[in-house]
Amino acid sequence: MISANLSGRVAFVTGGASGIGLATVERLAANGCSVAINDLAGNPRLAQEVNRLKHAGRNVAGFPGDVSKPDDVTAMIEAAAAQFGRLDFLVNNAGTPGTAKPIPVDDFARMDEAFWAKLVSINQVGPYRCLKAAAPHLKKARGAVVNVASTAGLGYGGSSSVYAATKAALILLTTEWSYALGPEVRVNAIAPNVVDGSGWDCKFDPADLAATVARLPLKRAGKPEDYAEVIFYLLAGAGYVTGQCIVVNGGGAR
Ligand code: NAD
Repeated sequence: MISANLSGRVAFVTGGASGIGLATVERLAANGCSVAINDLAGNPRLAQEVNRLKHAGRNVAGFPGDVSKPDDVTAMIEAAAAQFGRLDFLVNNAGTPGTAKPIPVDDFARMDEAFWAKLVSINQVGPYRCLKAAAPHLKKARGAVVNVASTAGLGYGGSSSVYAATKAALILLTTEWSYALGPEVRVNAIAPNVVDGSGWDCKFDPADLAATVARLPLKRAGKPEDYAEVIFYLLAGAGYVTGQCIVVNGGGAR
């Protein structure tokens, strides 16, 4: 497991109360980083996880807000920067499938205008809103950004083709934003596949999932900690890497 001394550094992690976001918060905080944890105001896990981590001696604070709401984003990023005095790292992790059951590619009726608008606003424009608000702080600190995309965005299927499109856009934007924020700030992405330990309410068929996992060279689904490991590396190390998307998928099913 790689480590770094991040004392004096500050991270902002969206959707940080569960799954990959929470594992990233824990990893950063265990390495001395102060962490601003965002999640939806209605998610009781935000306060629970903040309290648990504070009791464990970590320097964390909660910043409730919805990345699909521009005013929430501006307010929470500015509040975090004011409270901690700087911002070095942004992890754009908040994302949603927006459906309790995967949507077949030809089920156009379920992929209606409202569904498109919701997923684009949370998964695609949400990271943009956070990046835009955090950019001056990140540039000053010469920091780094990691966007949590998905192998769905690379054409490997997923909960819906709308979800896949938003993640494909996020992968493209990662490269665009590396030019926008360089040379001071590096911007990278990871593309996870299945997450063993996700809080997602989108349930895939267990038999389909097991068959996919059985075809992976590593023969297991990734845990939130597996993804946090690569996010941590892209933030705390990887000084000559920007504009890239690292696929983290146990080697890929074929
Ligand atoms: P999770 O549900 O465990 O955690 C996501 C968190 O984001 C939740 O706590 C949720 O409340 C929060 N959130 C949702 N919408 C939000 C919003 N609008 N504003 C702020 N917070 C919001 O999910 P996870 O599996 O850890 O997913 C994390 C990221 O990984 C997401 O971007 C997801 O798209 C991506 N991903 C997940 C999978 C998977 O199979 N679970 C696969 C590939 C990529």
